[in-house]
Amino acid sequence: MAALFSRSLTSRTLLASTGIVSAAGITYYATRRPLLLDSAQNAPLSTTMNFPWTMLFAKQLTVTHVEQVNHDTKRITFALPGGSSEVSGVSASSALLTQHKPPDRYLPVLRPYTPVSSPSSPGTLQLLVKKYPHGAASTHMHDLTPGSTLTVRGPIPGYAWQASPSQPRDVLFIAGGAGITPIYSLAAAVLSNAHDQTRITLLWGVNGTRDLVLQSEFAQLQRQYPGRLRVSYFISGSAEAQSLVTEGPESRQSGYVDKSALRTAIEHCEAGSFGDEKGTKVFFCGPPGMQEGVVGKKGVLSELGVGKREVHVF
Ligand SMILES: Cc1cc2nc3c(=O)[nH]c(=O)nc-3n(C[C@H](O)[C@H](O)[C@H](O)COP(=O)(O)OP(=O)(O)OC[C@H]3O[C@@H](n4cnc5c(N)ncnc54)[C@H](O)[C@@H]3O)c2cc1C
Repeated sequence: MAALFSRSLTSRTLLASTGIVSAAGITYYATRRPLLLDSAQNAPLSTTMNFPWTMLFAKQLTVTHVEQVNHDTKRITFALPGGSSEVSGVSASSALLTQHKPPDRYLPVLRPYTPVSSPSSPGTLQLLVKKYPHGAASTHMHDLTPGSTLTVRGPIPGYAWQASPSQPRDVLFIAGGAGITPIYSLAAAVLSNAHDQTRITLLWGVNGTRDLVLQSEFAQLQRQYPGRLRVSYFISGSAEAQSLVTEGPESRQSGYVDKSALRTAIEHCEAGSFGDEKGTKVFFCGPPGMQEGVVGKKGVLSELGVGKREVHVF
C-alpha cells in the first residue's frame, strides 16, 4: 500500500489532484455491471449500484452508522442510493475514491478507501478508516455523523482473482497496519467462494494490540472455512510484547514480519501448490518502510526466492 499511500499523499497538490481524477476517469472502464444472482434460485436478487461511466462523475453515499473500532479507527456504514434492493458490487480489494472540499483549499481532497463490506451486502457499504494526525481525508471521514453525505467515485479495480476450483492452492497474504483492508476484502471473497479451494496464510504486522481491527471477522472466517485460513499477528510494540496472550484461533507473536517468519510461511505454502491460477504467490499491502523491507528490490522475499512477478502489491 506504500506506493498507493504515497500516491494518495501527493494528491494534495493541484497537479496530482487533477491527475488522479483524470487518470482514474481514463482507466476506468467497468461501466455497466450485471444483476447479482441469488445462487440458490438463480433469480435476480438485487441491482448493482451503477457508478457513472467515468470517474469524472460522482455518487453520494449517506452515512447511517459510525462505530469507533479502536483508538484511531472508525467503521463508517453508508446507505446505498438505491436502498436495500441495491448492492454495491464493488469487487473484492477494489477501492472507492472519496472526495471532499476543505474550506481552506482550492482543490478537493481525493483518497482511495477499500470497502470491508461484501459486494453483495444489501443496501449498505462499509469503510474502515484510520485517522492520521492532520490527515486531510481521514479527519474529514472521522467527522462524519449519521445523515452526512460523502462523495465517492470509482471503483478503482483491485486484483482480478481467479478461483482454483479443481486443486487446493496456497497463497501468502502480508499486511502492515491499516493495509489490512484490501487483504481482508480479498480473503473474504476467496474463502466464501464455494468453488475455490485456495488456502490463505496471513501474516499481519501491527505496532501494538490496540492497532488490531477486523479480529472477529478473521476469526469468523477461520471458523466458517476450517483449514483454509491461517492468521498470525506480529506485534512490534516492545511494551506489549511481554504480555502477549493467544486468544482465538489466530497466533500472536512479538516482533516484525521478519525473514524467519516469512521463510516459515513460504515453506508451509510450498508444501502444497504455491501460487494462484495466475502464478501470484504473495499479496502485500503495508506502509512504505515495510514494503521496502519485504517486497522491495532487496527485500526479504527476493532473498527467499520469490520473484517480483509472483508478488502483487496493493
Ligand atoms: C488503494 C488504497 C486503499 C486504501 N484503503 C484504505 C482503507 O480502507 N482504510 C484506510 O484507513 N486507509 C486506506 N488507504 C489510505 C488512504 O487512502 C489515505 O492515504 C489515508 O487515509 C491518509 O489520508 P489523509 O488525507 O488522512 O492523510 P494526509 O493528509 O494525506 O497525510 C497527513 C499525515 O499523515 C501521514 N500519513 C498519511 N498516510 C500515512 C500512512 N499510510 N502511513 C503513515 N503516515 C501516513 C502523512 O505523512 C501526513 O503527515 C488506502 C490507500 C490506497 C492507496
